[in-house]
Amino acid sequence: MARLSRVPAAPSELLRQRGLRVTAQRLAVLRAVADDPHLTADAVTESVRTEIGSISRQAVYDVLTTLTEHGLLRRIQPAGSPARYEDRVGDNHHHLICRACNRMVDVDCAVGATPCLTAGDGFGYEIDEAEVIYWGRCPACVAAAPGRATRRPERNPT
Ligand SMILES: [Zn+2]
Ligand SMILES: [Zn+2]
Ligand SMILES: [Zn+2]
Repeated sequence: MARLSRVPAAPSELLRQRGLRVTAQRLAVLRAVADDPHLTADAVTESVRTEIGSISRQAVYDVLTTLTEHGLLRRIQPAGSPARYEDRVGDNHHHLICRACNRMVDVDCAVGATPCLTAGDGFGYEIDEAEVIYWGRCPACVAAAPGRATRRPERNPT
C-alpha cells in the first residue's frame, strides 16, 4: 500500500473529493481533528462548539461516522476507553497509549512500510488492516512515578 502524502488539502476540497456536501459542521469537525489528533467524540464536540456555536453531541457523532465511513477520518477503539478520531488515514500506522494519562501517539509500523499486513498465516483472508496498540506509560508519567508497576491499568487506586 502506498503511503499517503501528508500535504494538507483544504478540508472543503477533501469533502468534495469524496462526494460529500460541504457543511460548516463537517468542516469544523475536520479542523478539530486535524488540529489535535486522537480526540474522543466528546472532545471533538467541545472543540466544534467553540468554533461554530451550539451543535448537539449526536450531530457530531453523525458527522464523525460519515467522515470515517468515507475515509476522511480513522477511528481507533482502544480496549476499555472511548473511540478516538484522527485524520492520518490510509497508512496503517499504529498507536502507543499511556495507561496512566491516556496520552496517545502515532507510531509507524515496526519495520518498513506495512509488514504487519503480512500475517504469518492469513488463512486465505484478504487483509487490509492490522490494528496494533502498544500499551504502557509515557515518559512524563514514568518520570512522575518511576518504578510503578505497568502491567495492569489502575482504574480505582486504593
Ligand atoms: Zn502518561
Ligand atoms: Zn494515529
Ligand atoms: Zn505494523
